Amino acid sequence: MTQLVNLPKALIVGKNLIGGEWQDPSNGARIDVVSPYTGEAIGTVPMSGASDVDRAVEAAKKAQRAWGATPIRERTEVLFRFRQRLLEHIDEVSHLAAAECGKTVGEARAGVLKGVEIIEFAASLQNMDDGAVLEVSRGVTCETRREPLGVVAGIAPFNFPAMVPMWMFPIALTLGNAFVLKPSEKVPLTSDVLGRLLLEAGYPPGVFSIVHGGREVVEAFCDHPGIEAVGFVGSTPVAKAVYTRASAAGKRALALGGAKNHFIVVPDADPEITVDGVVRSFTGCAGQRCMAASLMVAVGDCDALIQKIAAHTRSLVLGVDMGAIIEKPAHDRLRADLEQAVRDGAKLLVDGRGVPAPEGYEGGYWLAPSIIDGATFDMECANRELFGPILSIVHVSTLDEAIALQSKSPYGNAYSVFTTRGATARYVIERAEATMVGVNVGVPVPREPFSFGGAKASKFGSHDMTGWGGVELWSKQKKITSKWSLQPDVTWMS
Ligand code: NAD
Repeated sequence: MTQLVNLPKALIVGKNLIGGEWQDPSNGARIDVVSPYTGEAIGTVPMSGASDVDRAVEAAKKAQRAWGATPIRERTEVLFRFRQRLLEHIDEVSHLAAAECGKTVGEARAGVLKGVEIIEFAASLQNMDDGAVLEVSRGVTCETRREPLGVVAGIAPFNFPAMVPMWMFPIALTLGNAFVLKPSEKVPLTSDVLGRLLLEAGYPPGVFSIVHGGREVVEAFCDHPGIEAVGFVGSTPVAKAVYTRASAAGKRALALGGAKNHFIVVPDADPEITVDGVVRSFTGCAGQRCMAASLMVAVGDCDALIQKIAAHTRSLVLGVDMGAIIEKPAHDRLRADLEQAVRDGAKLLVDGRGVPAPEGYEGGYWLAPSIIDGATFDMECANRELFGPILSIVHVSTLDEAIALQSKSPYGNAYSVFTTRGATARYVIERAEATMVGVNVGVPVPREPFSFGGAKASKFGSHDMTGWGGVELWSKQKKITSKWSLQPDVTWMS
């Protein structure tokens, strides 16, 4: 048997981090954290309540006053130390993230490294001249100053246990906020390691907090008068509910939701780059990625390319090239989705259901990648986010027909085109309704300092999650108008 991941040797007891102390929830409630590799518990997580949120926010508020008044250069020194500790512990973090989420250790490591990229962007903020001073009329200047919001909160999904929290807290903390995190209750243990490393790096107690749990904690974040802004990443229905509730409470809110990403393949597409890009995109993280390209729109005769995509897909080794599905209900639902597609009249070009689990991991939630060909847009496999390693292929005759399909989708996260013609790429880019667009790239994640964020039902709220969008999200601009001497030619505005 090949060992795929280091599973924890003993059950890990997840704790809340409040005021720099590791704590149990006040109601004592806990649930198991189960590894998708084995189907067995590797730890437990608190299911906290509103009173735990109250205590976390109170401690965060106290800590934020001094932290917000600390010069950015000193705040950044702590971030540098966190970056260093994170890299020293990258194996521990990657194995734990993989163990609780089911992805491969390599994918988990890539997620941590994307977090490092965001840390580096946040660290660079100390050298950015982000203000402005203008003499707006004789003797009168206007100046802008970026200031923290206060206590802010982040809510994360299961699919990136380390990366999504790091989309948020490095920028928010560096700008002088205190940050309260609620990780997904399915993958909470990685966040506790991040919390430990943040404390070791020297973040003052209360500046970074963790309150574990589910809906009750999320709703308490939205309602709490001491929380100024809420960042959310997860499914569309919850994103919409969180955005609506937090906004109604007068908070700044950005909620990123689900996706059904289309990518267009035209016959002139480069075979190598297309096969690699398509297969990586829908099988990476077992398709449990908001950027996964799950609907291929084949324009004209792409049969040779499709055969190559199918052959490459069949060659992937479960457990080595692709990890497991997060939990049994999701695993069973994906199998049912494949059956439904066949009932709807599509063809299973690659059927992952018969592929055995990796040796020694038979209790886990494994499903090899599958390809549904001949789908039509009215089929669920073509229009619903399945969130698994399933690619659906729809055939159309013209580029305009391919482009028209996106208006039928409620989502607008990512959109890619595979072509060797610049004019085709340009045509698609200009008509894309999604706001993260790829050309010959299957997972068009904007890299720092470019911001991450979709459109339509993939994003509720303004700003974006990373890059400059994140700076806007987690700070406010103060405008100062000054005059130091009385001027003879004043207007009512000066
Ligand atoms: P989810 O919406 O079920 O959970 C996300 C978070 O919300 C978790 O912390 C969970 O505890 C909490 N939550 C769940 N139900 C809730 C409710 N009824 N009320 C309040 N809070 C609730 O999402 P998930 O299954 O963990 O993650 C997968 C989804 O996230 C997919 O739809 C995926 O596309 C999306 N996602 C989007 C992005 C993006 O950037 N747009 C990134 C990653 C994942």
